[in-house]
Amino acid sequence: MKLTVLGKSPAWQDAGGACSGYLVEDGDTSVVIDCGNGVFSKLRMFRDYVDVDAVVLSHLHADHMLDLVPFAYALTYAPRQQPVPVHKWPGTDDPARPQLHAPPGARDTFRRLAGTWGPEDLIENAFELREYEESDELEIGSLRVSFQSVPHFVETYAMRISTTNGGGKLVYGADCSPTEALARFAADSDLLLVEATLPRPERTGDRGHLTPREAGEHGRAAHVGRLVLTHISDELDSDWARDEAADAFGAKVEVAAEGAVYEV
Ligand SMILES: [Zn+2]
Ligand SMILES: [Zn+2]
Repeated sequence: MKLTVLGKSPAWQDAGGACSGYLVEDGDTSVVIDCGNGVFSKLRMFRDYVDVDAVVLSHLHADHMLDLVPFAYALTYAPRQQPVPVHKWPGTDDPARPQLHAPPGARDTFRRLAGTWGPEDLIENAFELREYEESDELEIGSLRVSFQSVPHFVETYAMRISTTNGGGKLVYGADCSPTEALARFAADSDLLLVEATLPRPERTGDRGHLTPREAGEHGRAAHVGRLVLTHISDELDSDWARDEAADAFGAKVEVAAEGAVYEV
């Protein structure tokens, strides 16, 4: 499978960047993991949005789901999605309606979000929405997605993504504070995409994120093949982050960059 980084910023975008979003492609199957602000524009550079089979969200923070709004508008109002000919588009009886897998409570959250300015069913009409449970295993084309609850400020799930085509195993840690659950879940995966948000641990004591060194420690505990840091601002020194993580991991570490592609 192929992983393309669409956005790697934390809760505010890098200059010219996007918040969390990753495109996973395997043969004809394509899945968008998280869809933060700025991600829809980046997605359009790599894959036609009507060809996306599913969007899977790790949690319902703004930086992981806000671009469902422009995505939903495109699916609703794009000329080629209409039943009648519009401009150069012939009209269709079968408009694209990707699956949307989101944590429990997502339907209510999306209704409150869209309902602040218009019809509250914007997102659930555009996508085939389903709230997953931790024990679910999604089958999306040739991809399989399973979940692990991780500690964060809201209900959040790491994801393990594999393929029926014999490819490798990818784990996305979502946003999380230090946790043995992630190391167990990611054990022996080929690539761990792990957040490294903080220059130092939270000062309030209420933890929700990792430092680059802690990210490296999780990679080491899980014995992963490759470690890629993400959810890190361009206002932090990426060389410093990479070195901190590599020291703890005991091997080379990469820092995610938008447009970077990883074969897993
Ligand atoms: Zn985040
Ligand atoms: Zn978050």
